[in-house]
Amino acid sequence: GMNRFSTATAAVEEPISPPVQINYTKLLINGQFVDSASGKTFPTLDPRTGEVIAHVAEGDTEDINRAVSAARKAFDEGPWPKMPAYERARVLLRFADLVEKHSDELAALETWDNGKTYEQAATAELPTFVRLFHYYAGWADKIHGLTAPADGPHHVQILHEPIGVAGQIIPWNFPLLMFAWKIGPALATGNTVVLKTAEQTPLTALYVAKLFHEAGLPPGVLNVISGYGPTAGAALASHMDVDKLAFTGSTDTGKIVLELAAKSNLKPVTLELGGKSPFIVCEDADIDKAVEEAHFALFFNQGQCCCAGSRTFVHERVYDEFLEKAKARALRRTVGDPFRQGVEQGPQIDSEQFDKVLRYIKSGVDSNATLECGGERIGSKGFFIQPTVFSNVQDNMLIAKDEIFGPVQSILKFKDLDEVIKRANATRYGLAAGVYTKNIDTANTLSRGLRAGTVWINCFDVFDAAIPFGGYKMSGHGREKGFYSLQNYLQVKAVVTPLKNPAWL
Ligand code: NAD
Repeated sequence: GMNRFSTATAAVEEPISPPVQINYTKLLINGQFVDSASGKTFPTLDPRTGEVIAHVAEGDTEDINRAVSAARKAFDEGPWPKMPAYERARVLLRFADLVEKHSDELAALETWDNGKTYEQAATAELPTFVRLFHYYAGWADKIHGLTAPADGPHHVQILHEPIGVAGQIIPWNFPLLMFAWKIGPALATGNTVVLKTAEQTPLTALYVAKLFHEAGLPPGVLNVISGYGPTAGAALASHMDVDKLAFTGSTDTGKIVLELAAKSNLKPVTLELGGKSPFIVCEDADIDKAVEEAHFALFFNQGQCCCAGSRTFVHERVYDEFLEKAKARALRRTVGDPFRQGVEQGPQIDSEQFDKVLRYIKSGVDSNATLECGGERIGSKGFFIQPTVFSNVQDNMLIAKDEIFGPVQSILKFKDLDEVIKRANATRYGLAAGVYTKNIDTANTLSRGLRAGTVWINCFDVFDAAIPFGGYKMSGHGREKGFYSLQNYLQVKAVVTPLKNPAWL
């Protein structure tokens, strides 16, 4: 009934005033905030109301060209790739300190532009952001090359050099964390960057980029361009002077940028794309914990996670109990103004995603899945959707195959491990998986059998800085975070020198 959502209705009618001002709306090129070459701007919206928050400079090809030349110059002539790595580390550490100092404002800006809860932004995402830069600062002066034996009298040094100018394109679901995952390894290893933010969420990247310059980052090392994908994004992906491209977003756009990279200068590309991750609840699982974790795995961040546990497979012996509790949990989920304390779920990012999620809910109903709860929008303004649970979901339904990217949990029944491994793997994606069991043999069987880049056992969404993250199959190429992320930004050079009169070979 409506009572359950009274908070949300109030939030929509009287949005809480965000405790932050918007100071940065221009493009950041060569250390300066500048207007776009065209003079054009685009609006960024408040997902709580659909109203305009700010007009932001709209970057396009000419702005990308300017930003890439600045990054090129900063790489070829600048101090950044050549300075002692320890000095680079110090810039990253000073930056992390400044972000920590401005955490409250940044969390408020992130909530305002994205719709995620302020509590999540302030208590989870900002501390994680700071931690990621501490982590990458630690790597900066620990990039070792190797030596290799040669068949003859030669000395072989293997140097790990920065790759050059990195182009990076990020999505809107975790604007700050995606910034950190991309910028951290690129800058720690001495590269320079042009970052294209998502058109839905341009604000926080500009703010932190400003702090980076206060921390002593030389001009041109980090350039931030706001703008749309097919214009600014495509110009970056196809630029002849960009040495490496990193992309996070949808699988369809991943194909486009890979093609643009191939058709221009063959720049190497890392891709972090979509998913349809299974969350498997075994018959011996602690059901209350599994219900809570499966709920979190799907509904976290309004369901807008690439690794969302969007296929909840439940063993037939515990299915009925699990379903009843999962439904009760979804009904208890508090939806409302993300600035209000205690609210668990804010609005979806924009009208496009909102419409798409509602279309998938309709498709679930039309294909005869059982709508256990939710299914409707909340209020008449903004992009709020009721927490929605479907049971009786079959593998061939669209809601079990496509990435919905919204607060829609699909519950499926299984009988045995071999069957659930096959069904869990029967997807074009392979980003992540969750497993709930108390049996170590079951856990091992599933973790080895599942074709996914991450398997969380009796937990979900654990994203520590050192844990590599990325996809199998059409969920992408390469890994972010951890040691593996550095390799995306390093060239390998073999230097071979004859050894005169070696003492031994
Ligand atoms: P998207 O792929 O369209 O956008 C991601 C980024 O790519 C944005 O910065 C966008 O401007 C840019 N882009 C778009 N078209 C481009 C082009 N032709 N050339 C270069 N860059 C381009 O994703 P979206 O529309 O924001 O979201 C749609 C779907 O993407 C979601 O429903 C979800 O399935 C998926 N998604 C995945 C992640 C993830 O973390 N893996 C994050 C956000 C969205």
